[in-house]
Amino acid sequence: MDNHQPIACTVSNLSGVALARTFLFKFVSLLAAVFFLASYSLVYLAHDLDRAEEVESAFYTNKAMQSLEKSLRSTVKDYAFWGDAYKHLHVEMDADWAYVRQNVGTELYTDFGFSGVFVVNDVNSTVYSVVKGELKPVEVEEWLGQSITAILVKAREGAATETPTTSFIVIGGVPALVAAAAIMPGTDPTVMSDDRSPSVLMFVDILDSAKLEMIGRDYGVNGLRVATSDEIGKASVFPLGENGTAGSLHWSPSRPGLRLLGLGLPLIGVAALLVCLMTWAILRRTNAGAKALDASYKSLQSSQAALSTSEARFRDVVEASSDWVWEIDADWRFTYLSERFEDVTGLSRDAWIGAAMDDLLSTELGTLSQWLSIPNRRPDISVQCYYVDTKGQERITRLSAREMAGGGCRGTATDVTEEVEARRRIEFLSQHDALTGLPNRTRLQEFLDGKLKALPTVKQPLVMLSLDLDRFKPVNDLLGHAAGDRVLNEVSSRLADCVRHGDLVARVGGDEFVLILTDVSAQEEVEALCRRLIESIERPIVIDEQEVFVGASIGIAMAPNDAREATELLRYADIALYEAKTGGRNTWRFYAGDMNAKIIERRRLESDLRFAIKHGELRLHFQPRYRIADGQMVGAEALVRWQHPERGLIPPDTFIPIAEESGLILSLSNWVIDTACRYAARWPESLFVSVNLSPSEFKRGNLVERLQKILFDSGIDPTRVELEITEGVMLEDAEGALKVMRTLKRLGVRISMDDFGTGYSSLSYLRTFPFDGLKIDRSFLNKLVESDDNMSIIQAIVGLGRALSLTVTAEGIETAEHLQLLKAVSCDEGQGYFLSRPLSMDAFSALVEVGETTGNKRNV
Ligand code: C2E
Ligand code: CA
Ligand code: CA
Repeated sequence: MDNHQPIACTVSNLSGVALARTFLFKFVSLLAAVFFLASYSLVYLAHDLDRAEEVESAFYTNKAMQSLEKSLRSTVKDYAFWGDAYKHLHVEMDADWAYVRQNVGTELYTDFGFSGVFVVNDVNSTVYSVVKGELKPVEVEEWLGQSITAILVKAREGAATETPTTSFIVIGGVPALVAAAAIMPGTDPTVMSDDRSPSVLMFVDILDSAKLEMIGRDYGVNGLRVATSDEIGKASVFPLGENGTAGSLHWSPSRPGLRLLGLGLPLIGVAALLVCLMTWAILRRTNAGAKALDASYKSLQSSQAALSTSEARFRDVVEASSDWVWEIDADWRFTYLSERFEDVTGLSRDAWIGAAMDDLLSTELGTLSQWLSIPNRRPDISVQCYYVDTKGQERITRLSAREMAGGGCRGTATDVTEEVEARRRIEFLSQHDALTGLPNRTRLQEFLDGKLKALPTVKQPLVMLSLDLDRFKPVNDLLGHAAGDRVLNEVSSRLADCVRHGDLVARVGGDEFVLILTDVSAQEEVEALCRRLIESIERPIVIDEQEVFVGASIGIAMAPNDAREATELLRYADIALYEAKTGGRNTWRFYAGDMNAKIIERRRLESDLRFAIKHGELRLHFQPRYRIADGQMVGAEALVRWQHPERGLIPPDTFIPIAEESGLILSLSNWVIDTACRYAARWPESLFVSVNLSPSEFKRGNLVERLQKILFDSGIDPTRVELEITEGVMLEDAEGALKVMRTLKRLGVRISMDDFGTGYSSLSYLRTFPFDGLKIDRSFLNKLVESDDNMSIIQAIVGLGRALSLTVTAEGIETAEHLQLLKAVSCDEGQGYFLSRPLSMDAFSALVEVGETTGNKRNV
């Protein structure tokens, strides 16, 4: 019996060990499988996270480059499709306008960071270049180190459709974005395009490392920079230009997965190691005897403890991340929320566990549960959700979700409120004017397109007001740009105050605004609004204790009556604006069909006039001036006419205003003065010639030099030349006019004030300015018979002239009676149809020749 005991014991011991061993073996395999699975899921999750991050950062890099191109395109477009630019950069390169007056100057570098600004003319040579904000005479191709022919061709192709072009290039190893656009008059009805191939405006934005870094930061892309040759072809690379001809960009996407692995894998490893160690110990013990089962039971317990430690560690990892983790059951109710939930959202976990997920989070497209139940939803695509935090503020979170095997889902939620806000801000900036915060041209275009798509009707029209400030330029010139900016800001807010919610006020140029109204129908309502707008702008604006006054002119066009398309509507509103301006400013005009025709007619006349000046269609007539006391001819006034091949002889009142507006006045006047002086040089010494000057000639700095040259070339004695100027000269810029007049006097010429008595402040000017004579406006004589008042006024003017030692000339003497009256008040000189009409050169020569023998006298 005793023999059996130990055997039985051994058997039972052996089977205990074997049992324990098989059990252990199974258990260890199970554990190994669990660890393997855990590691595998972790690696998979990490890889997934990194991949999503990679895709997202590539998306934002692409977005950033697109938006850079878009913004550069719209900037160059604003500058190039602009009547003034056309005038000053294409028609004639005016560096003073562009650089000194900062229209296309330093600010493009200081405000926009464009390192290069160039104008290339019709024969492809660079006529204007601003490099890093400084005016420098460099050829653009030399500066870029490459040919730009393709860019120029593309820019010019886009001239008709007002489409600029952009392209990425490399300058000395650094990528750069070039935007180019043909310079066109835009919708400016006052500018006429010529038939030369258009000049091209080019902006060059060099994307150096600092700029790239900043662009990346704006879009949440880390360390955006130029890719080295090793990096090309690998991950996180964005090619610039076609197939990367302008290099490639590289960035360092954050690697959330890698971080997760860095924390998670060691933890799993430690747990596995622990379990291995314990298993080893257990195995050793099993050999020791039957107690092994006990021991293995214990070790099982402790390995369970290890598992829960590893679980705790895993939880720590989850809580260490900035995202929060959630789980829901099949009824879409939260069953788990990580601790981070409270930190991030400020909401209580306890309150939300058990609550429906849809009550917390909403998406733009529908409820979250709808999104989660999309069949075959890709688990790697996240959804943007909104919720309201404890402070009542809307927050935005990006949610990713995976279905769980036992029903329900789990996933993470990342707070992206700041990121989305930053993106919104960028979007806002691209659609709004930086100075006033008003919508810009881009936004206007979108708004307009949207409103026009809704098909406005005659009963509910869309009203467009094109508004342009009057007298704004002097504010800028005299008080500086800062003051100008403040005026624009004040005007902007006044405009915005005048319109209703849902209307749009956009700033589309320096002092140009466009208003879109959708809720007015009657013409009277529109007029009332225009009145309100003008009154509100005319109220004084106080800048540094100084009152500034500006005004506004408004042109109105309506859809669908006038046009149904945005560009047409804008053009018509501009045409109406132009009419309002010529109609005396501070007023408004509705677009009318014939306005367009009038403007086309005017433009025709303008281009005809340009031709006329060059091709000798101008004629000079001379109207003699006589001394009233003895009827002696003393000189003649040169009056210009235009011998038009189809329209016949056109009087100056028709074309001088056009010449003044288009800038043709300078060449016209040159011709007049030159012809008059050459011609008069051959007259008897006793006769002078007088010529009329336009106020605009005073503003251009070279009047003195021009006159000096003409006097020299013609050889006429300067004392025989008289300049007739009107009060307008002094009204616009008295100080400047005084300076010019003093220099003119030094040349030896005489100056007289024309049309005296039609203005309002002539008297004071007579005292302060170096006049030699004054010409009483012909309207006084015309009305002479009607009132005795005019007689006494003429008498007073003659007295005043005498007191100031000025020669007084009466204009418009039409009858013998007029002449008699003037003689009675001892007026010095006279001119008029009764004495002589303006005569052609030949007729005047004949008169002078006859006069040589008779002493140039008239019976008076
Ligand atoms: P203005 O300087 O007042 O010139 C005198 C105008 O009165 C001339 O008209 C002349 O023909 C007209 N006139 C002369 N005598 C009589 C008269 O007895 N009765 C009446 N009713 N009119 C008389 P015109 O030649 O048509 O010139 C009109 C205006 O055009 C001029 O007014 C002057 O302001 C401007 N103008 C003419 N030539 C030039 C020029 O070369 N340059 C510039 N800037 N302006 C010019
Ligand atoms: Ca005159
Ligand atoms: Ca006159």
